[in-house]
Amino acid sequence: MSSPDAERTDTGVARRSVLHGAALAAGGVLLGGAIDLAAADGALAAARPRVYNRGEWNARSPKRRAEVRSSPPDRIVLHHTATANSSDRSKSHAFRLSRSIQKYHMDTNGWSDIGQQLTISRGGYIMEGRNRSLMAIGDGDHVVGAHTANHNGHTIGIESEGNYVSAKPPGDLMDALVETCAWLCLAYGLNPASAIVGHRDYNVTACPGDELYALLPRLRSDVGTRMRGLRARIRLRDDSAVPEEHLPTYPQVPAQERRAPFYHGPAVGPDDR
Ligand SMILES: [Zn+2]
Repeated sequence: MSSPDAERTDTGVARRSVLHGAALAAGGVLLGGAIDLAAADGALAAARPRVYNRGEWNARSPKRRAEVRSSPPDRIVLHHTATANSSDRSKSHAFRLSRSIQKYHMDTNGWSDIGQQLTISRGGYIMEGRNRSLMAIGDGDHVVGAHTANHNGHTIGIESEGNYVSAKPPGDLMDALVETCAWLCLAYGLNPASAIVGHRDYNVTACPGDELYALLPRLRSDVGTRMRGLRARIRLRDDSAVPEEHLPTYPQVPAQERRAPFYHGPAVGPDDR
């Protein structure tokens, strides 16, 4: 099925993202107040990795349209899918993964749609998750997902295929994470040093696993390097303005977590409504 937004989602970055999102400039002058919007659009477009939209992975129709808020997210939350560390790195496998997660979230959890905004396979294929996500990112807006309990209103979630409690994530997956996070940081004006967090930083869960979690400092650094490589000079949002309740709480990681596919701790909570 193709969502009503499918065509729009693959047409590139909407200009509005620059106006109320990052206010970024590639080679532009920030301090003088003159921002080269054309160059900024170019930097953001160049930053966008190939993201397969819902029509491409043959998503089901959602039970209802996702809620889009004009306030951009202030944190990017990384998850693992807690599924097998498949050796199948193909695109068709990646698309099957997205379909199976969507089925689980809709039919077992009873959600309106797949929970996360983006999914990345072990082969490095990046896929749109919840309906309207690509459109919202392009516009500098936020689609409310279901991935981090009580923090879905201000976080965007990336599900990485695999279980990284004791295994290391493959290079293709990490490369795709760098590209995806750099794109999101540019789209939303986020500083990767503070914006990129793990699910366990908010909820009681082992997600995204010790091994992936241990790579977050390097990921933050690599994302910053990529952003500089894109020659994008961005006006980062003032992180001190982030409400205290949005900051990570670093709860205790449970000694044991139920080992079931797609289960990685609380995904929705009373504060999400
Ligand atoms: Zn998680």
